[in-house]
Amino acid sequence: MNVASSRSCGECTLCCKVMAIETLTKPAGSWCTHCRSGQGCLIHAERPAECRAYSCLWLVDDRLGPHWKPSKSRLVLTTSEDGIEIRCDPGFPEAWRKEPYRSQIRQWAASGETHDVTVLIVIGERMILVTEEQEFDLGIVRPDQRIVRELEGTRCVGATLVEASELE
Ligand code: SF4
Ligand code: SF4
Repeated sequence: MNVASSRSCGECTLCCKVMAIETLTKPAGSWCTHCRSGQGCLIHAERPAECRAYSCLWLVDDRLGPHWKPSKSRLVLTTSEDGIEIRCDPGFPEAWRKEPYRSQIRQWAASGETHDVTVLIVIGERMILVTEEQEFDLGIVRPDQRIVRELEGTRCVGATLVEASELE
C-alpha cells in the first residue's frame, strides 16, 4: 500500500511489543525494554535503524479506518514478500477474530487467493495462515522455517512447515 497519510502514532507503541528487533535481540511479542507507557521510546534519537524504518500499514494507508489503529484494534499490519502479516498483541490473542476485523481479514484472504497473496496472523512466534474458508494453525514457526502451501488451482488446501535450507 502506498497511500500518503498525515497520521501519527500518538499514544500507540504496539509495534514496540509485537515486532522482533534483531539489533536489540528483542523477540516478537514482548515489550522492548526501551519503551515506556505514556512516554514512548526512551532512546528515540538513537533508536536502531530497524525502528526508524518501520511504519505499520495503519500509519501510512488512510483506507484502513480509525478502528484499525493498533492501540485500539490490538493488531499491527505489515506487508511481506508474500502478502499481509497481521501481528496480534499476545495479550489479546483473539483480537483478530473480533468484528469487524475478522470479516475484513477473510475478505483479504479471499481476494488474496486469486492473486497468490497470503494472509498470516502472527501471535508472538505462533502463526496462523488464513484463507477464505479455512485456518491453518502452524504453531510456533522458527525464523529458519518456511511455510509451504498446498494449492489446488488458486485455492490453498494445506500448509506445512519446512526448513528453509531444504528450499535452497
Ligand atoms: S504500531 Fe503503527 S501506529 Fe502504533 S506505534 Fe507502531 S507504527 Fe505507530
Ligand atoms: S528501540 Fe524504541 S522504537 Fe525501537 S522497539 Fe524499542 S522502544 Fe520501540
